[in-house]
Amino acid sequence: MPHEKLRQAIKVAKENVQAEKGGPFGACLVTLNACYVAANHVVPNIDVTSHAEVNAFRAFIKNQGYSLLDPDDKPVLFSSCECCPMCMAMAITIGIAEIVYASTREDAESIGFDDNLQYKLLKEKPISKLTFSSEAIEVLNQNKADFLLLDDAHNLIVSENSAQIEDLGLISVSGVRKACKNLKSLSMPKGSYIITKKIPHPMGLIAADWAKILRNENDNNLNIICATKEYEKAYLKNKKGDFITIDNAELIYDIFAGDKKNTVEIHRTQNQQIIEDALNTFSLFAQKIKNNKAIPY
Ligand SMILES: [Zn+2]
Repeated sequence: MPHEKLRQAIKVAKENVQAEKGGPFGACLVTLNACYVAANHVVPNIDVTSHAEVNAFRAFIKNQGYSLLDPDDKPVLFSSCECCPMCMAMAITIGIAEIVYASTREDAESIGFDDNLQYKLLKEKPISKLTFSSEAIEVLNQNKADFLLLDDAHNLIVSENSAQIEDLGLISVSGVRKACKNLKSLSMPKGSYIITKKIPHPMGLIAADWAKILRNENDNNLNIICATKEYEKAYLKNKKGDFITIDNAELIYDIFAGDKKNTVEIHRTQNQQIIEDALNTFSLFAQKIKNNKAIPY
């Protein structure tokens, strides 16, 4: 069964590349009674969070109508490639028990997907590179917002408050996502920055990096100003449809830094044929890039 599900994830990745609908990544989220398959649709959806793993989870939400996996279902995520940190943070938050993958993050890096750099960034404790300012709360209050995204001339790109949180229950994720939609662009203008009430959840932090907000050329600091040292919590619905709070952002940062053990079991398949199939999908995508038919996003 594991081989079959991983093959399915790679198959949708390949079909996605052939159809020129996005990156060479596919995922299959398997619960006790169901299976949700999805591919990467970042470019066509103009959504930096539209990774295969996130999309598989969104398919689960759409079908089940609630936003948290049942641990009794022992949910497993089969992914054609090792997860980026954004998807890993999501997997931990929503209660994935196990991840099985084929290609590595180094393979992904070789065709232009730089999540290896993101893992390095997280290992170095990004919190120390955030700016904390008590004035930020005034700016947020003036805008009646918990999250603001501005360009370098301080023009507002997105203003979000907690009441507007979308499916993944994180204001940092929905803020970045809406910014992409507002500007119809995957990358925010150079010099853009975030003002936020709380330290972003790692999923939102990396979503901001995918939208090219986080890192800047001038210094080592990240382009995020936090009003408090409180961590952002995820709000997800349980089976009954009631919102529950998941306070795991600090734990996930510690996991990425190597200070705590990951709650998800992660394996790379040992099946060489499957690994080769996954790599072939990457080669196919590299060819598309060369022919200007695809961009690595
Ligand atoms: Zn991802």
